[in-house]
Amino acid sequence: MERIKNYIDGKWVDSKSGETFRSNNPANKGEVVGVVARSGREDVDQAAKAAQGAYDAWRLTPAPRRGEILFRAAGILLRNKESLGRLETREMGKILSEGLGDVQEAIDMGYYMAGEGRRLSGETVPSELPDKDMKSVRVPIGVFGLITPWNFPIAIPSWKVFPALICGNTVVFKPSSDTPVCATRFVEALVEAGLPKGVLNLVHGPGGEVGEYLASHPGVDAVSFTGSFDTGKRLEGICGAIHRMIVTEMGGKNAIIVMDDANLDLAVEGALWGGFGTTGQRCTAASRIVVHRKVYRKFIEKFKRRASRLKLGDGLQKGTDVGPVINESQFNKILREVEIGKKEGAKLILGGKACQKGNCSEGYFIEPTVFVNVTSEMRIAREEIFGPVVSVIEADNLEDAIRIVNRTAYGLSSAIYTQDINSSAVAERDLETGIVYINASTIGAEIQLPFGGIKHSGYGRKEAGGRGGALDTYSRWKVIYRDFSGRLQKAQIDK
Ligand code: NAP
Repeated sequence: MERIKNYIDGKWVDSKSGETFRSNNPANKGEVVGVVARSGREDVDQAAKAAQGAYDAWRLTPAPRRGEILFRAAGILLRNKESLGRLETREMGKILSEGLGDVQEAIDMGYYMAGEGRRLSGETVPSELPDKDMKSVRVPIGVFGLITPWNFPIAIPSWKVFPALICGNTVVFKPSSDTPVCATRFVEALVEAGLPKGVLNLVHGPGGEVGEYLASHPGVDAVSFTGSFDTGKRLEGICGAIHRMIVTEMGGKNAIIVMDDANLDLAVEGALWGGFGTTGQRCTAASRIVVHRKVYRKFIEKFKRRASRLKLGDGLQKGTDVGPVINESQFNKILREVEIGKKEGAKLILGGKACQKGNCSEGYFIEPTVFVNVTSEMRIAREEIFGPVVSVIEADNLEDAIRIVNRTAYGLSSAIYTQDINSSAVAERDLETGIVYINASTIGAEIQLPFGGIKHSGYGRKEAGGRGGALDTYSRWKVIYRDFSGRLQKAQIDK
């Protein structure tokens, strides 16, 4: 059993109160993965003070030098990939291959953002006036408060911490209380890479207390949050009221359209991977499959057959396809949503129960669950369940399918399976989501392009790379005009 501490001003420390909480293995509730510092306001105060104190030296450190530290951290994550992947499975429950994938994403993000240290480019454009030049440069925002969820316990912290640091910000990071050990290992990589003290501070503790205090702390200049809509919206309100920049990445009710001309086997595999991968606990999980009526029955038959063969169990065991859900409260919530689905008149054709087979009773296991005859008014088709529950909905044609997909408050990811280039073009244009996949599932974003959703799925700028991605989130533009004519020139007038 490991003792997990806060990291404040270059030191690993217990919380001021000395209180702790436990992080357990969701596949085996009795296994404690870590005993963790339970922080309070004083710990946040110290962390924010340390981040403020380190800010000037860090922002003035040349960006390529900052990038070298990130590059070394990515190398350390690579060296530790296997053990980190296993830790992810033990602490969060995802199967080992997905745990390793999550670590790889953090490695990729580290190398990518390290390279940005040699770019961080702005613009130089000609002036209207003689003997005058002008440019825009990226500058850091200050101290960032970063709050992350448990479902990608190393990748999502990397999506925030690496770009925040490369842009010259300092950070107070509050990870999910369900995956504090993973977050700590990630921070350790940066510490080992030589990050100066105070630049990155880690504070564990309950979101409602530590997270909310951090978001509203006077020593914090901006907030980046990933998590549920309810929490994100609350933080948007808090930050809005104090004129503080906040970026939120929140939930999804993502859908795959399967057209009558689709390669059905491919669509079934996409729906399986999108619906039950990470036990349905991805913000981009395909929780709705909208199927053209001409192939509806055939799709359901194939999908049910494949889903019924998925092997549920501990993600460290070879051959496991689907792991547990994260904790007791999610476990109970998912089973409640299934009951609501049944009451609303959807037909349950697979699963719908907690799994009690073998060692499943040791953890939070729910059978892969499929509902058919779902309509878009039903709650199971509108609300994010965040578990292994997929609803299949029948559509008359492409327009009807797009209308169904768009009829939720969320707008993160969508997909269409079709062989028809025109249908794919219409879907690409009309699906109201931040990300659209053609002949691929709703999951599998790559870090070289911006990531994020619209409507209730996200607010503000975006994560990851490409134009309009993380650099725009973690820096702001400063515009410089320099007149070297030696006389008064007035733009707009002296032309
Ligand atoms: P959550 O309950 O909203 O928690 C997210 C983070 O916020 C955790 O660190 C949590 O701390 C903290 N928190 C909770 N209440 C808070 C408050 N009042 N003030 C400040 N911070 C608070 O979400 P989750 O269950 O961890 O994650 C699942 C959700 O994340 C799903 O909705 C999923 O779709 C979404 N998600 C979105 C994306 C995306 O990029 N769009 C990616 C991944 C996940 P504690 O753990 O201590 O409660």
